Amino acid sequence: MAKKSPAATTKKKTILTRKAPTAKVKKSSPVKTKSTKYIFVVGGVMSGVGKGVASSSIAKILQGRGLKVTAIKIDPYVNVDAGTMNPTEHGECFVLKDGLETDQDMGNYERFLDIDLLGTNYMTTGSVYQAVIAKERNLGYGGRNVQVVPDIPAEAIRRIKKAGADASADVVLIEVGGTVGEYENILFIEAIRMMKTETPHDIGVVMVSYLPVPGHVGEMKTKPTQHAVRTLGASGVFADIILARATVPLDAKRKEKISRFCNVLPENVISAPDVSSIYDIPLNFEKDNLSDRLCSLLELSCTKESNLKEWKQFVSRSKHLKDTVRIAVVGKYFNSGDFVLSDVYISVLEAIKYSSYKLGLKPEIIYLSANDFTDKKNLKELKKYDGILLPGGFGKTGVQGMVNAIGYARQNKIPYFGLCYGMQLAVLEFAQNVLHLKNASTEEIDPTASDLVIGVMADQKVKIATGDMGGSMRLGQYSTVLKKGSIAQKAYKQDTILERHRHRYEVNPNYVSDLENAGMHFSGKSPDGKLMEIMELSTNVHPFFLGVQFHPELQARPLSPHPLFTAFIKASYETRK
Ligand code: GLN
Repeated sequence: MAKKSPAATTKKKTILTRKAPTAKVKKSSPVKTKSTKYIFVVGGVMSGVGKGVASSSIAKILQGRGLKVTAIKIDPYVNVDAGTMNPTEHGECFVLKDGLETDQDMGNYERFLDIDLLGTNYMTTGSVYQAVIAKERNLGYGGRNVQVVPDIPAEAIRRIKKAGADASADVVLIEVGGTVGEYENILFIEAIRMMKTETPHDIGVVMVSYLPVPGHVGEMKTKPTQHAVRTLGASGVFADIILARATVPLDAKRKEKISRFCNVLPENVISAPDVSSIYDIPLNFEKDNLSDRLCSLLELSCTKESNLKEWKQFVSRSKHLKDTVRIAVVGKYFNSGDFVLSDVYISVLEAIKYSSYKLGLKPEIIYLSANDFTDKKNLKELKKYDGILLPGGFGKTGVQGMVNAIGYARQNKIPYFGLCYGMQLAVLEFAQNVLHLKNASTEEIDPTASDLVIGVMADQKVKIATGDMGGSMRLGQYSTVLKKGSIAQKAYKQDTILERHRHRYEVNPNYVSDLENAGMHFSGKSPDGKLMEIMELSTNVHPFFLGVQFHPELQARPLSPHPLFTAFIKASYETRK
């Protein structure tokens, strides 16, 4: 039988088309593609020594060497994201532009690197397990036994590589949360070991350790660091570089000791003393040639000279300020036992700083607990400040104090800037005291109130009713159309803006016309005109009274301060004068 079957014909064709391009590629591209390098940052001895800022600074100095850098944070919590964690426990929740609720360190990365990160740049133990289990349920493992090792680290590695590829990065910096030796992060340390076994020349490990100087001895001790390095070694991972965090710089003797007992070259022991500003840290690292060390360790093809010119200008500007501006932040997540937590509003704090520096001003930022203003007698304390800012928040606690503080700012013409809850409560205060709707409230705290000027967003109702509370708010970047000639539009110098959101409630559309007739302007709305995104009072009646439904602080950067913060600080300073 000479007749060929159609299948055979098809097969032949497939082989031909497959072969041709392979041959071509081989001939025309002999150049090996550059591999992406991965730098892991792990913590030794104890937490809270600035591993996040150290990681951001390492990323910054590599960026200064002309490399494309991206950063990943690994949080060892079982929580799937940081959205469900109490801020007093976990600090600020930083929302990425794609809507993922993450750790505040992601904010540091975005601010230091001046780039937007994506959800692939963040993972928790919970999110990794969730993905592995979902894949197993879809027969993604082909019926084999799915195991904690290697499948959990393998999923972490997949994500790390994806983040690098998505960003076309030369270098991916990965901060592993927690401290070595903890039960919680061991699978991520295993991921480092697996990657290093596979491509040893592409992986670098930096340990951020702490060197105590016990008061009664007066000498810096290296022993805890030696133990931390040994603990890491027991997992099959060895530090290439040790960042020695301490109150003071490392001396030659300690450097040599760490080198000898921790198996690192003396030049790979980097001094990281306390500094007055975190923005000095990249510059300090370069005093010990850290970018050179990393570039030679990973054979990175970087520029010969470091270019951190703009960064240096920013740091220098922040140290040469002509006058001060006093800003009160009225919030509720400050107190934890006997301690005051400023981390909860870290992006707000930094945003105030950048705009103040831009204006040549030194910001004095004072945290005031909203609860203290429940009693109106205490409100006169607010007179001392040039501007009042009310950040985002949730729930009942402190709300009456916040509303009282907003009313005081409005009536006494103290510049006011409300962020998210700070806008909603400003609308509520206005409804109560200008529209005289005595029972005006927000559905979040009193769903039975007769005038719900702030109501739950339509799509949120079902979510709340079914207890679908994780990652389910209106999250991430949305556009807002600005009204010509408004304070907001003049500040942004744009007609449409993109800002990040995180809320379940909104201005109730049924009250918009009454509010507007009484003098409240909604100068920013969603493109369909349905959601009120910015509220302001005319400058004829108040020097600066503005609230936003979004979180502008999440997009403020040292090298590009946020225009609304700048407008607020400027108004605060000028009003005082
Ligand atoms: N609690 C308010 C809401 O969910 C405000 C949220 C916030 O300030 N981020 O709408």
